[in-house]
Amino acid sequence: MSFFVRKFRQSNGKTWLNRAAMAPRHPSEIRRIARGYENRSLRRMVQQALASPYFPWFFLVRNLQNLTSEPRWRRLPIRLREVASMRLLLERSRFFLELAAWRRHQPAVLETSASFRLTHEEALGYCNHCGACCEIASGRAQFPAVTPFPARWQGLFAAGLGRWHRFCPFLWERPPGGSLCAIHPWRPLACRVFEKEECDYLKKGLIP
Ligand code: SF4
Ligand code: SF4
Repeated sequence: MSFFVRKFRQSNGKTWLNRAAMAPRHPSEIRRIARGYENRSLRRMVQQALASPYFPWFFLVRNLQNLTSEPRWRRLPIRLREVASMRLLLERSRFFLELAAWRRHQPAVLETSASFRLTHEEALGYCNHCGACCEIASGRAQFPAVTPFPARWQGLFAAGLGRWHRFCPFLWERPPGGSLCAIHPWRPLACRVFEKEECDYLKKGLIP
């Protein structure tokens, strides 16, 4: 656990460009982070998720970083904050692996993965994949009429993965850094209509 917190502290204040360097890529680092879980299957699950270059490590770190400015989080005793951080990583890992398993059995998703390299937003020249628009917690779950994933996932978009989660369940990292929407072809309306004007406005607020 302390190792996870230490990684988080090291990352504090880093920009998204540092994400690749901050991610626990070495197996020994991953093992040290997962050691905080006593249950062996949970430990394995976290290890498996962290081993993927698509795991949204940077966004998870920024999630923790953002929590430190929330009064409800700050009121928690340190021990409970640690437990909540572990839970955050566990819940994120569990859903990440569920999503990854679904993608493996969806040839259409893999085919459209190429579009991750040149999305609509990139084509218009304003998206640098900072991921900030996917860190707006929750939104109206207005998905296309037909989606190839479980209906329950639509609810997750609106409600999030749990109490302390502050970014979209479908947000991944695309190696070696940057945001990637794991369900890009079927992303909800709120994401489709996020154009240059909204992007500029959001980035002005986030980037001094
Ligand atoms: S905030 Fe703008 S630059 Fe960042 S991921 Fe969203 S659309 Fe792209
Ligand atoms: S569904 Fe995709 S584009 Fe929309 S907020 Fe989530 S990760 Fe971002």
